[in-house]
Amino acid sequence: TPTVRNYELDRALITPSAKIGVGQFGDVYVGTYTLPKLGKGKNAAGNGKNSNSDQRNADARPDVIQVAIKTCKANDDPEKTENFLAEAYIMQKFDHPHIIRLIGICSVMPIWIVMELAKLGELRAYLKTNSERLSHGTLLKYCYQLSTALSYLESKKFVHRDIAARNVLVSSPTCVKLADFGLSRWVSDQSYYHSTPTVALPIKWMSPESINFRRFTTASDVWMFGVCIWEILMLGVKPFQGVKNSDVILKLENGERLPLPPNCPPRLYSLMSQCWAYEPLKRPNFKRIKETLHEILIEDSINSSE
Ligand code: ATP
Repeated sequence: TPTVRNYELDRALITPSAKIGVGQFGDVYVGTYTLPKLGKGKNAAGNGKNSNSDQRNADARPDVIQVAIKTCKANDDPEKTENFLAEAYIMQKFDHPHIIRLIGICSVMPIWIVMELAKLGELRAYLKTNSERLSHGTLLKYCYQLSTALSYLESKKFVHRDIAARNVLVSSPTCVKLADFGLSRWVSDQSYYHSTPTVALPIKWMSPESINFRRFTTASDVWMFGVCIWEILMLGVKPFQGVKNSDVILKLENGERLPLPPNCPPRLYSLMSQCWAYEPLKRPNFKRIKETLHEILIEDSINSSE
């Protein structure tokens, strides 16, 4: 079993305030975390890796940081709490500027997962509210930032399985982060589906092989990322509106794909279309996608400054 022992936080240092969201296990709160005074040796908040530099920087860092606190309703059901904490076990493995960071957990009841706060909340809502203000370059930048996070996950051989705009949070107007490593654990246990076929799968984001055979790989993450790019360029519109889940696979097998979003550079739509190659092996990998998005971003900034 994985351990997050080093991530145990002193609950007295955490102050939840307003509720900001509802997750599948319980409510999510915004709050503060008072960083413990650094003693000799280990950084009390975590890994102890950088204890020397932490001490050097101790005067520069803030005493109190804003955090997001995920709570779990089913505190007394060991199976549920284990599943709830599984997301923290996954998040602790990652260290990337565009992936929401785990700060720590309180593993005794009531169980809390404390994460870096994305101040501006969910990307879809942000895109809708700011549709008039958001430049084309900014949307491209979001796509590029997410591709760097996904390329990082690819290098770690980690499959996310639920890449969608609803799982992206906004830290600042120029910075988005990948969140929600919840589904990754569910689908890693194939038997989960057979035992609870009622679980809502994100069919409209899924690759044909994921829909047909529940096959999830980095190549199926690539397909989903193509859909996520489409949602971003569409300013938060969901894919296949008005189409029944059961009809999606028929459309895909007929060669149908999501349409060209308004103002989408042709080169970007071509990249998205490659992500939607029926054959998983024909799709580009995230490293390649990241490089291509970088080129598209630069081309766009040259064109828009002319
Ligand atoms: P679901 O599986 O239904 O998406 P979940 O249990 O994975 O739910 P999240 O989606 O992670 O829960 O959290 C629920 C909501 O809480 C999010 O949609 C978002 O509005 C808010 N939220 C979660 N984490 C953060 C964070 N780090 N910063 C800001 N808001 C957050």
